[in-house]
Amino acid sequence: MADGVLRGLLPGDLRVVVAVVTDTAREARARHRLAPTSAALLGQAIAGGALLAALQKGDSRVNLQVECDGQLKGLFVDAGADGTVRGYAKNPHVDLELQEGDFRWRGALGNSGFLSVLRDLGTEYYRSSVALVAMDLAKDLHHYFETSDQVPTRVAIATRRAEAEPLGAVVGVLLQALPDGDRHALAEQGQALESRLERALAEEKSPSPQTIFSALFPEQQPLEGHPVAFRCTCSRARALETVKSLGAADVQHLVDDLGSTAVTCHFCGAKHEISLPDLFQILEELGAGAPRN
Ligand SMILES: [Zn+2]
Repeated sequence: MADGVLRGLLPGDLRVVVAVVTDTAREARARHRLAPTSAALLGQAIAGGALLAALQKGDSRVNLQVECDGQLKGLFVDAGADGTVRGYAKNPHVDLELQEGDFRWRGALGNSGFLSVLRDLGTEYYRSSVALVAMDLAKDLHHYFETSDQVPTRVAIATRRAEAEPLGAVVGVLLQALPDGDRHALAEQGQALESRLERALAEEKSPSPQTIFSALFPEQQPLEGHPVAFRCTCSRARALETVKSLGAADVQHLVDDLGSTAVTCHFCGAKHEISLPDLFQILEELGAGAPRN
């Protein structure tokens, strides 16, 4: 079943969000040709981004950024409240033998770094960062909510292999106490969230938002939801604008030295070809007169 997010309410005024982003993470992996460990971490971050964005309203967006001193170097995810997600890993080539346990991701994430969340609310930006302490995306997201947002929250993210497919399933769950929410209930529900999610993932052949929601919270019905998909906002028109922003002298150099160029999008890996006639057109728009070529 397709990727998506489901929101619901649990007794004690707890908000719950379930995000299944398997296909989205696989698309990111294919677009950026990610090695398995890079793919798993970007998949986790995509799940985190989808959960964060599901807490937003309207057409607002959330950026989730990690900078770290491990092999991965960092990653970036841009997620919209409309369910569109895009992102990249700074080092696409990380492929490590993963240990079980708390130090699982240290080889890739290293020993220090930052997690930043930027909320674009259309008219205002809010940015906050926390130091990575657990070197584990779900645990550090939890830490972010506790210290930066000061909202009692539990986050669990789980990935499962499916034979040769490293991204057999990528799923995230977020529990958050509403302003008058019962913190005791949150602690109870949140306590075994990670192991419950992993168990649910192990038991579901093809996990969907609905099956994961029902497995974790069998007494509750989700209230609303939306699909999630990888989508980038780049375009040829924007690529042309990027080249134009170099200025007439640099565009003339491209004409003289290369005859054409290409703009590759960081977020989705799309390559936008800029031909010689395009470059002439840009020079004309820049008022650089007749091209010398
Ligand atoms: Zn793009």
